[in-house]
Amino acid sequence: MFTDRINRIQPSATLEMTSKAAELKHLGKPVYNMSVGEPDFDTPNNIQKAGIHAIQNGITKYTPGSGTRELKEAICNKLQRDNQLQFDIDGIVVSCGGKHSLYNACQALFQTNDEVIIFTPYWVSFPDFVSVTGAQPIFVRTNSSKQNEPDFSDLKRKLNSNTKGIIINSPSNPTGGVWSDKSIQKLLDILKAYPNVWIFSDECYEQLTYDVPFKSIASFNPKNKKIITFQSCSKTYAMTGWRIGYIAGNKDLVKAVGKLQGQSTSCPNSIAQYAAIEALEGNQKCVIDMRQKFKIRRDLILSELSIIDNIHCERPNGAFYVFPDFSKYLNSIDSKGNKIQTASDLSLYILNTTGVVTVAGDSFGAPGYIRLSYATSEDIIMQAVSLINNTLKKLNF
Ligand code: PMP
Repeated sequence: MFTDRINRIQPSATLEMTSKAAELKHLGKPVYNMSVGEPDFDTPNNIQKAGIHAIQNGITKYTPGSGTRELKEAICNKLQRDNQLQFDIDGIVVSCGGKHSLYNACQALFQTNDEVIIFTPYWVSFPDFVSVTGAQPIFVRTNSSKQNEPDFSDLKRKLNSNTKGIIINSPSNPTGGVWSDKSIQKLLDILKAYPNVWIFSDECYEQLTYDVPFKSIASFNPKNKKIITFQSCSKTYAMTGWRIGYIAGNKDLVKAVGKLQGQSTSCPNSIAQYAAIEALEGNQKCVIDMRQKFKIRRDLILSELSIIDNIHCERPNGAFYVFPDFSKYLNSIDSKGNKIQTASDLSLYILNTTGVVTVAGDSFGAPGYIRLSYATSEDIIMQAVSLINNTLKKLNF
């Protein structure tokens, strides 16, 4: 009944876990949600006020398909201020969230017979963004003990004349890994031999690095017109529901994405665009405060996890996820005699026995791993990890 296009893609595993958590809550069961992909903070007050101002002052009409001039100017100033990148407004397109930006850019650039490189573990949506275009996702391994930097020999093996794109996401969802300058430079050097490859840098967690400064990939080589930067207001300003993301890069690509938006969503939400100007231009203390809170939580969850036997968790330098290896628990048996075969089985076992919601690594291309988000209170982090610990002890090896 449906097109090949629709049949090629999977539902978003992370959004499915969000619905499962909502279902349990609705049934009155205790839920410890460690699956969330968004800050638990409210949108800062000054940004809320800007949104209200927009509603009350007629900023409620269609805008240009690629976003308002005022927001694009604010984005250019932000890119200069935070990322040392110089763009004019014709190098910017605003979309309904970073997800929409990435989806649209894939639509504009990739098609059948193209190959697009994606690093595993990957954010759940990358393979589907590529598959829906008819292009083929090609997976390249990373090194889990080194912030999930690329396995460069695997990368070199997979690059060929059909490679049309490569998607980078540092800081990463799901691993939290942040690539070193050295590894980014090495990647860009390797790609010099492949001038047709578009380099997507998904930087939606750019403000969430803890032990290392963030450096935008385009700033390594501002002259390289194939590097496309994707950023978002979602995580930086706790604005996930406002749906504002943007692309900075090649003017022709930006124009093509604007054209696609004009024929699909018409334009990003006018109220959210107005509020995003305040987010980008207003006081940035909220960003620093959130970063500090996340860092405390990251350290807390790592120390809590360290007491669980038979798991291994790296120390990620960014985002708000940890990605422990639970593979030693695979093939164990629960008290009812059921065999836990995959990380999905284990995640479901944890959910059913404790109410702790997690996301299994299977959907991130990382069997045996489970993603825990620490975008939640310190109390919930401590309770959830303790519940996981207790329920794992009941498994028989
Ligand atoms: N990229 C990554 C890696 C993400 O984790 C997310 C959100 N989960 C996005 C992009 C998109 O975020 P948004 O559409 O809210 O900007």
